[in-house]
Amino acid sequence: MQDFDVIVIGMGPGGEYLAEALAGKGLSVLGLDHWLVGGECPYYGCVPSKMMLRAAGPLAEAALIPDLSGRVSEITPDWSILASRIRDEATDDWNDRAAVDRFEKLGGTFIRGTGRLTSDTSVSVSPNDGSAEQEFRARRAIVVATGSSAVVPPIPGLADVDYWTNRGAVQATEAPQSMVVLGGGAIGCEMSQAFARFGTEVTLVEGTDRLLPPEEPEASAILESVFTDAGINVITGTRAQRVSQSDGVIHVELSDGRTVSGQRLLVATGRRTDPAAAGLASVGVPEDARVAPINERCEVVPGVYAIGDITGKGAFTHIAMYQGGIVTKEILGEETYTADYTAEPHVTFTDPEVGSVGLTEAAARAQYSNVAVGTAAIPDTSRGWIQKYDNAGLLKLVADMDRGVLVGGTAMGPAGGEMLSYLVLAVHAQVPIATLQSMIYAYPTFHRGYETALQDLVDG
Ligand SMILES: Cc1cc2nc3c(=O)[nH]c(=O)nc-3n(C[C@H](O)[C@H](O)[C@H](O)COP(=O)(O)OP(=O)(O)OC[C@H]3O[C@@H](n4cnc5c(N)ncnc54)[C@H](O)[C@@H]3O)c2cc1C
Repeated sequence: MQDFDVIVIGMGPGGEYLAEALAGKGLSVLGLDHWLVGGECPYYGCVPSKMMLRAAGPLAEAALIPDLSGRVSEITPDWSILASRIRDEATDDWNDRAAVDRFEKLGGTFIRGTGRLTSDTSVSVSPNDGSAEQEFRARRAIVVATGSSAVVPPIPGLADVDYWTNRGAVQATEAPQSMVVLGGGAIGCEMSQAFARFGTEVTLVEGTDRLLPPEEPEASAILESVFTDAGINVITGTRAQRVSQSDGVIHVELSDGRTVSGQRLLVATGRRTDPAAAGLASVGVPEDARVAPINERCEVVPGVYAIGDITGKGAFTHIAMYQGGIVTKEILGEETYTADYTAEPHVTFTDPEVGSVGLTEAAARAQYSNVAVGTAAIPDTSRGWIQKYDNAGLLKLVADMDRGVLVGGTAMGPAGGEMLSYLVLAVHAQVPIATLQSMIYAYPTFHRGYETALQDLVDG
């Protein structure tokens, strides 16, 4: 049995980051991945989906030219330009050679295969090339970073049609004429807007009563109205019951009796994690556990760590890398901080962007007895008025007034994701509301709306 200092199962953003950092410090590291080093984010997730939105943005901006700037002759959306950018620049045609080389040049050993914990110090590997299963021992640590995959709900008929998940959507070579999107979470909303701006007739179906269910209801309502104004057919509070296909068209029967149809069907109904598949039962994690249980040092049991989506602490690349940073220091014996998700930020990169951090108003009211909120509508700010078009959004602050600090907030609007950094800092550092009120806010920025929202909050 061959020994390594550290064995990393899954080389997505979390595993790759940690494996490179440890190999760079001279540790012997075995990295395992049965698909692409880099994981979901660069090949099928964050990067290509943001490229889709980046390409879709100018199409929407150009439509404002007659109202703001002059005449525009004709705009002809061409998905193939975007498809080439995703293939060539983002994913190297879904090839991870550069990432594998980078890791190996740092001294890491890579095996393309499926890893499975067999004890707190050993991992078995089934190589993709079909060669015999091998067993490896870890001297210092094993890190499970096996991520998540798209949920495909058991809807009758779905398995018989040619549907997309995020993986199919980012590999599209053209924008379909029409598309049904199941799921109004971040992925469903981002993809719906990107395709719609390229001319696809989109029907977006969400089972709960609003888009982006984890966000503030006000943000969901604004996004729904923006989408509806842009011609996206948003259907909430109803679920897909049956799927069928005829003459190249996919039909989805909904629980409210309606049927919606499209040339394509995108399933964006969430992500699933599978701790059992990573062999975590061998260290006592129940077979039916939905996530890998970790302590504040990301440890499952002594010597076995888990990071990223598999931990259920937030399915975001920045969480995987944050945890990867903590575990790297732990393994190296360097001074570190423990994980604190109080100020966990997330952004849905629609236009308007929806950034949020910490607790929503409802979650804060369930936790604290003295909660106050303050809001400012982006169109009511000076910058929002100047913007005139495409200015939907709001700032919403949620405070625990007993401590006089923000415990959550939403920054929705043009550049909402960038405006979020103010709220993340305020929540993370527990900056007193009085200190935030004494700041100078540049005129005329969207950011200046925070001053109004703070006043609204203290006025009650
Ligand atoms: C469409 C889309 C858009 C997104 N946009 C954003 C965004 O804008 N911002 C953001 O922060 N996050 C975004 N995310 C989420 C982000 O991609 C994930 O949170 C991130 O990739 C998680 O990293 P990870 O390391 O936990 O796992 P993953 O990226 O899932 O990587 C896990 C790796 O482990 C491998 N693996 C799994 N099991 C085994 C095994 N047993 N043996 C060997 N290898 C194994 C897999 O092949 C994979 O390479 C998006 C996701 C999607 C799908």
